[in-house]
Amino acid sequence: MTGAAVPGAAPGASASSDAASKALRFLAKPLQLFIDGEWVAAASGETFDFEDPSTGRVIGSAAAGGAPDIDRAVRAARKAFEEGPWPALPAAERARLMMRLADAIDANGEELAYLESLNGGNPLRSTRSVDVGGAAERLRYNAGWVNKIFGDTLLSSARGSTLSCSIREPIGVVGAITPWNAPLFMATGKIALAVAAGCTVVVKPAELTPATAVRLGELIAQAGFPAGVINIVTGFGAVAGAALAEHPGVDKIAFTGSTAVGRAIMTQAAQSMKRVTLELGGKSPVIIFPDGDVETAARTAAMGVIFKSGQFCAAGTRIFAHRKIFDQVLQLIERLFTAVKVGPALRAETEMGPIISRKQLERVMSYIEAGRADGAQVICGGQRLPGEGHFAQPTVLAHARPEWSVMREEIFGPVVCVTPFDDAAGLDEIIALANDSDYGLVARVWTRDLGVAHRLIRRIKAGSVNINGAGGPGAGEGLPFGGFKLSGIGREGGHEGVESYTEIKTVAIGY
Ligand code: ADP
Repeated sequence: MTGAAVPGAAPGASASSDAASKALRFLAKPLQLFIDGEWVAAASGETFDFEDPSTGRVIGSAAAGGAPDIDRAVRAARKAFEEGPWPALPAAERARLMMRLADAIDANGEELAYLESLNGGNPLRSTRSVDVGGAAERLRYNAGWVNKIFGDTLLSSARGSTLSCSIREPIGVVGAITPWNAPLFMATGKIALAVAAGCTVVVKPAELTPATAVRLGELIAQAGFPAGVINIVTGFGAVAGAALAEHPGVDKIAFTGSTAVGRAIMTQAAQSMKRVTLELGGKSPVIIFPDGDVETAARTAAMGVIFKSGQFCAAGTRIFAHRKIFDQVLQLIERLFTAVKVGPALRAETEMGPIISRKQLERVMSYIEAGRADGAQVICGGQRLPGEGHFAQPTVLAHARPEWSVMREEIFGPVVCVTPFDDAAGLDEIIALANDSDYGLVARVWTRDLGVAHRLIRRIKAGSVNINGAGGPGAGEGLPFGGFKLSGIGREGGHEGVESYTEIKTVAIGY
C-alpha cells in the first residue's frame, strides 16, 4: 500500500513453518478448560467448533463450558484468593510471575501470532506487534503497579486525636469476559489487571476465538502461577458468560464487547451488586481542519478503519472534514481504500483480513445497504468479495446524515462515513456533530490551532481525545482507555486500570 502503515504494525512476513506446525499441533486436539491448574473437559462432555474466517473452514474444537464448569472455576478462584498462596505471596513475587508470563508470550510469539491470525482473521503483520506484543506489554506495565497501589492519609473531623487512612484491597474473584476482535490481548490484559491488584480470575473467551486464550493457559501453568489463580473456561456467551456474570461468588465482572451484551451483563451482575468495568462500542469522530496535516490525517483515518477490518471499538468511523478540504480528504481515503490488499490473514502481503464470521459480514453488508437506501454516496467498496472467507471491501460512504443508522450505530466493519462541516458559526457546529452520538469512546482532531484544540478537548464527550495523531494503538498502557455514555464504565490502563480491581477500605484509629 502506498506509504501507509497499519497502526503499530511491522511489515509482513510469513509465519515460520515451525510456528505454524506448533500451532496446528495445538489445534489437533479439542481444547480443554483450565480450572484449578488442571486441564479438564466440560462437565457435560460437550464441545463446539470454531473456524478460520479467511476460509470459513473449521480449524478446531473447544470444551463447551456450562454453569457447573463456571461454578468449579469460581470456587477454585475463591479458594486461591481466600486461603491459597495468592494473598500470602509478596507483591514482588506476583510481579515476577507476571514478567515470566510476558517472557513466555514473547518466546512463543510467532506461534501465538499464527494462531491469532488463523482464528481471528487479523493479518500477521498486526497480530505480531499489536496483539502478541501488546499482550506482553500489558503484563509488564501492570507488573509495575503491584507494589504501588496506595491509599491516602485522611483528615477526620472527629474530636480528639485520631489517625485515618484509606487502604486499597483486591476486590476478590474477577470474571473476565472477552471479545473476539483481540482475543489474546484482551484476555491477557484483564488477567494482568486482576492479578496485579491481587485478585484471582476466571476468563471466559469469546466462542468464535478460543484458541489463543487456551494456549495462554498453558503458558500460565508454565510460568508457575499457583493453581486456581487464573482459570480459563471456554463456552458460549449466553451459557458460560451468563453463568459467570450471575455467579454470586464473583466480585467483579470485567467485560469488553458490544454495548448490547454489556447491558445484559450489567443486569446479570446487578443481583449480587458486582463491580463492573465495561469497555463497549464506539462511533468515534475524526475531525479534520484545513490547517491540520490533511494528508496524514486522511491516511491515518483510513488506516484506522482498515485495522482489524474495522472490528475495533475505537475505530474512527465518522470523519468530519472541513468543507474546504472535504474533496481532498475523500480522494485520499478512496485512493488508499482501493489499494488495500484484502486477503487471508496468514498471507504475508495481506493488509486487511476477513470479517470474523458469515453473520457479522451479513450485518456489515446490511448497514452498507441501509446507508445506500438512505441516500449516502458509496465512493468506493460496498461489496463483499467472492470466495469461502468472509471478506468485505473497504467502503466509504459520503454525505451521510447524522440521523442515519450508518452514522449512529456501530457497524464493526471496514466502513467509514465522511461528512463535511462548516465553521461559520464558530466551533459549535462541529462540536454538536461530534457529540451527536450515543457513544463516547475516542475523538480525534487534526488542527495546528491550539485554541481550537483546547476548546474541542473540553467540549467533546469522549473517554480519549487525540490531537494530531497521538494516542491509539501503540500508545501503550500508560494511557487510561474507556468510554463516556454507551461506550462503557471504567478505564483500563494507567493507575485507574489497576485501581478498578480494588476496594477502598477506610480506617480510623483512635487511642
Ligand atoms: P457478539 O459476539 O455477539 O458480538 P460480543 O462481542 O459483545 O458479542 O461478546 C463478547 C463476549 O461476551 C464473548 O465472550 C461472548 O461469549 C460474551 N457474551 C455474549 N452474550 C453474553 C451474555 N448474555 N452474558 C455474558 N456474556 C455474553
